[in-house]
Amino acid sequence: MNKKGENIVLLKNKVGIITGAGSGMGQGCAIRFAKEGAKLGLFDVDEKGLAETKALVEEEVPGAEVLCLKVDVSDEKRVKEAIETVAETFGKLHFAHNHVGIGHVGLPVGDLPTEVWERTLRVNLFGAFYCAKYEIHEMLKNDDHCSIIFTASVGGLMGTPGSSEYNASKHGVIGLMKAVACDYADKGIRSNAICPGAIDTPMWKSGPGKEFEGDPEGFVKFNASRSPMRRLGTVQEIAATAAFLASEESSHITGVAIPVDGGQMATDSSYFNWD
Ligand code: NAD
Repeated sequence: MNKKGENIVLLKNKVGIITGAGSGMGQGCAIRFAKEGAKLGLFDVDEKGLAETKALVEEEVPGAEVLCLKVDVSDEKRVKEAIETVAETFGKLHFAHNHVGIGHVGLPVGDLPTEVWERTLRVNLFGAFYCAKYEIHEMLKNDDHCSIIFTASVGGLMGTPGSSEYNASKHGVIGLMKAVACDYADKGIRSNAICPGAIDTPMWKSGPGKEFEGDPEGFVKFNASRSPMRRLGTVQEIAATAAFLASEESSHITGVAIPVDGGQMATDSSYFNWD
């Protein structure tokens, strides 16, 4: 709200794409972006999840313009087709939030099946590349302010045990984000990454490895203790950061990876004793 009491809408009439919009943070971002006035192309492999997101968006924002498309981000041809469809449907593309990511299986490098490594890189890193490549093609067709947001992770800024495939993919996403920023900073496209810490989503809940089997409370306690705020983050906190990065409010920010982690990256996690 501004001093005159008017609501400031960050993304009025902007057209955006969210990948991984059928669940978790992608779903939360869809609701927030629609509230900010955006028209949205929502991508996911899970059609049921997409339908749920569409219903939630329409409940919060009656009349919201939403196009749901079944897209596997590791399929380059389908990614290209879907991005072109969104731009044709709404006339332009202004922003994109490349959210899709799959987790780690919890094995040390020496035990990790090569197929798992390959699949994770294909979805998390190749998928982010395919999306960015064809989003850029559409964004270069307009003279408007454009923004690409990648969802990386604190696991893209540091190593964690049993997570080589995830760590490598997310470090790669941050490298890709920086390269896009360098290539297009003077062509009207900004590129940034959000690095979530532990956020309360279905992916995170599916995370407990052997050490927390049958002990979901211990898993929450452990993860909360890794952040100086001593709590998990929320989907809404990720969506608020994403709305800022998608909008012209962040017009001089490009090439940065922003931790949204309650301070986890600001400290040595061993300082926090979770017992
Ligand atoms: P989620 O599992 O709730 O949602 C991910 C969505 O991506 C799902 O709807 C799934 O169907 C979709 N998806 C999976 N593979 C796909 C593919 N090949 N093509 C298209 N869609 C596909 O996950 P989330 O917790 O919301 O995570 C979103 C992003 O945030 C991921 O990139 C994840 O790595 C990252 N992240 C999550 C956490 C966390 O604590 N939840 C922390 C750090 C980073």
